[in-house]
Amino acid sequence: MGKLIYCEKCHYRLEITNSRNFGFKLVVTQFAGRAGTFGPEIKNFFDHFPDGALDCTWNAYHCKKCGYLTDEYRLNMCVPKVDKCPSFSQISTPIEFWRYYHMIQRYTHCCDMCGEPMTEVTGKVKVRCPECGNYLVTRKMK
Ligand SMILES: [Zn+2]
Ligand SMILES: [Zn+2]
Repeated sequence: MGKLIYCEKCHYRLEITNSRNFGFKLVVTQFAGRAGTFGPEIKNFFDHFPDGALDCTWNAYHCKKCGYLTDEYRLNMCVPKVDKCPSFSQISTPIEFWRYYHMIQRYTHCCDMCGEPMTEVTGKVKVRCPECGNYLVTRKMK
């Protein structure tokens, strides 16, 4: 499950694989314990929503200013949507996660190179290859 973002002109490729099952559980546990270390945005969120959770799926992020392209955990901020909701650290899979939580606030990913807020790469966003400037192609992977 995931996608491949690649360049048809050069060898640039970025593989986005969503961690599933055991992997997802590990990531969730990791973030549940360190939620306060991801900057003021996430700290404020957990101050207001102690039962909140972070979206631990992956995606690609693109900087429109300098062209930097990278993959990161989404870290969007989510709250329980049902009364009997397991705690964040008990969640094992993305499917389970979205059954119990829904997003209320997007996390702002800042560019490692220039510090500008980055845009999440979806199917519709046209992004140029960081190596050669050609438009990149996205393909879904099983
Ligand atoms: Zn290229
Ligand atoms: Zn940048």
